[in-house]
Amino acid sequence: MSPPWSQPLDVDRLSRGEAEIDFDVPLPELSRLRSRVPGIGGSVHGTARFGRQSRFVVAGLSFTGKASLQCQRCMQTMELAIDSTSHVALIALEADAAEVPEELEPVLARAGRISAGELLEEELLLALPIVPLHEQLRDCAVSPSAPLVPGEAPEHVSQRPFEGLGDLLKRK
Ligand SMILES: [Zn+2]
Repeated sequence: MSPPWSQPLDVDRLSRGEAEIDFDVPLPELSRLRSRVPGIGGSVHGTARFGRQSRFVVAGLSFTGKASLQCQRCMQTMELAIDSTSHVALIALEADAAEVPEELEPVLARAGRISAGELLEEELLLALPIVPLHEQLRDCAVSPSAPLVPGEAPEHVSQRPFEGLGDLLKRK
């Protein structure tokens, strides 16, 4: 049986009932996300609150969780905390996007249906970095001066007695 987050939702019906749904989504199971970010791990928990704004079905989305990604500098796994809220307008036709109020982000719900997983996936595709890198130099196994060679792992990860020095140099 498919998990609840993958079931298509009738967004018009949910908006009329001002429904709120909870979802728990394992990130590797989102196929578009997985093809964009190979090796992605982690999971996200969130809620979507449906309603209406003028003629649009809208959803307030909030979600938190952790994604594990591969740092493109040192090729090691890094964790990224996810904590996000957004307001989307669920449109049935792409042509409707032009009329969506500025403060809302248009998301296509073909034939008025979208699953919580697809909705989340749209947001994550926008929110996740295209080239994930360890933010803190001390967490990264490769110095920032090393060339970016995706797919090539470092030979070994040595102890770095001067790792604080790297931070200092970067700050110059
Ligand atoms: Zn790194």
